[in-house]
Amino acid sequence: MSGPAAIYLDHAASTPVEPAVAAAMAAALTDPSLVANPSAVGHAPGRAAAAAVEAARAEVAALIGATPAEVVFTSGATESDNLALLGAARFRRARGRHIITSLAEHRAVIEAARVLEREGWRVTWLRPGPSGSVEPSAVAEALQPDTTLVSLMSVNNETGAVTDVATIGALCRSRGVLFHVDAAQAAARLPIDVRAQAIDLLSLSGHKLYGPKGIGALFIDRQHAGRVEPLMVGGGQERGLRPGTVPTHQVIGFGLACRLARGRGAEDRRRELALRERLAAALRPEPGVSLNAEGAGTAGHILSVSVAGVEGESLFAALEPLAVASGSACASPTGEPSYVLRLLGRTAAEAQASVRFSFGRGTTEVGIDAAAVHFLAAVRRLRAESPATGDPAPAGEGPLIRGTAGSAEAGTWVAVAARVEAGRLGPPDFRVFGCPDVRATCAALARQLAGQPVAALAGTNPLAVAAGLGVARAKAGRLLVVQDALRNCLADWENGRFLSAPAEP
Ligand SMILES: *Cc1c(COP(=O)(O)O)cnc(C)c1O
Repeated sequence: MSGPAAIYLDHAASTPVEPAVAAAMAAALTDPSLVANPSAVGHAPGRAAAAAVEAARAEVAALIGATPAEVVFTSGATESDNLALLGAARFRRARGRHIITSLAEHRAVIEAARVLEREGWRVTWLRPGPSGSVEPSAVAEALQPDTTLVSLMSVNNETGAVTDVATIGALCRSRGVLFHVDAAQAAARLPIDVRAQAIDLLSLSGHKLYGPKGIGALFIDRQHAGRVEPLMVGGGQERGLRPGTVPTHQVIGFGLACRLARGRGAEDRRRELALRERLAAALRPEPGVSLNAEGAGTAGHILSVSVAGVEGESLFAALEPLAVASGSACASPTGEPSYVLRLLGRTAAEAQASVRFSFGRGTTEVGIDAAAVHFLAAVRRLRAESPATGDPAPAGEGPLIRGTAGSAEAGTWVAVAARVEAGRLGPPDFRVFGCPDVRATCAALARQLAGQPVAALAGTNPLAVAAGLGVARAKAGRLLVVQDALRNCLADWENGRFLSAPAEP
């Protein structure tokens, strides 16, 4: 709880609980009339708890234009996605074993589809179009006679790109194919009408719409989807689709969050779009900064940007105290830099150096402006220190020797240069595209090498210097790039490849 207060711009990862929701949940936990198990409808306290659950179910249903009987409570959108894909596909295994989804989906969908692949289903993995979302025409082309399910997200959680679910829904309905929509990012932000949009299965998450974590729902259209196979056994709750005691207070909080979202969705959307445009206008003119999926749709709460010439981990580290999401490989489902951003034309290095700002009810214009100032300062500093945007320019007199190694695509790129006077190195200048550990090591080397004989370039061991700084051994590969740069610098000297004649000894 120390350090500067963060500016919270990660609402796509989780939204703060609305105070009225927290109050309703706290009251529910201590309300003597809600102590019973809502399945225990044999007695009055059980019926009271069940009534509270059903009232909440009606609120969830109302947000998406469904009937309460079509809403199954789950632990969140991850479980809803699993239940939708695995449950619907397995229930229909006799009818066909082909499903369609995309590589831009949340990993809950991607990994559920991979499970089906291992069980013998064929999966068509669509690619998002230039706008960042899957085009209806791509779905039309991918449909096969034995396709049973199409699963696509409504709003992409990385870029905010909006999928045309109504057109795809109509297409699937006309072909008798079930259509699942992951609406975790869309609910409370875009209008959802499961009938008008011909959606058969729809995933919701409580904590993405100012409700509690650990609760969500799956809408299952009664007429078209009918049944799905449960993932768990052990109780008859939720029509047997989701066994386990229904958490009354979670459900009450989720239901209230849905009601509030219904009341203020339009106002939230208007505010978020204005905040997004305010931040976009501040960042758009900056050289090297690209906005992702610009103009792709109307989800106002996400702005994704990629930065050229800057390494992702260092960018992310420099952004403290902004609470934003990074595009770096470790944050992506595949362990690769974002596939979605790659398809939008970003290089692997740019996809790594991507930042997702996401806004919510608590975001202010002051917060947006402060975030823009902080982000631009970090980007300018890192770009100024990057070999991608300029050569090293060491101070001092005398001939200039230089060495470079690595590349941006490989994740580490180092250029070093120094002046040589009377056989000794002037203060070396390092330009680094690399992680914070590589940068810290180069800064230490710059201090250590100044004033040393040129031959010290050969004897310097960046791994030992890094170890002294507490850098993990796992970074050894990156540090060898630093060593190569130093050796290439020395080779410049030894081969007489310096920029001006050396002084006579
Ligand atoms: C957050 C999110 C999920 C997962 O929701 P949980 O309730 O946290 O399990 C699934 N899909 C999308 C698009 C999301 O943004």
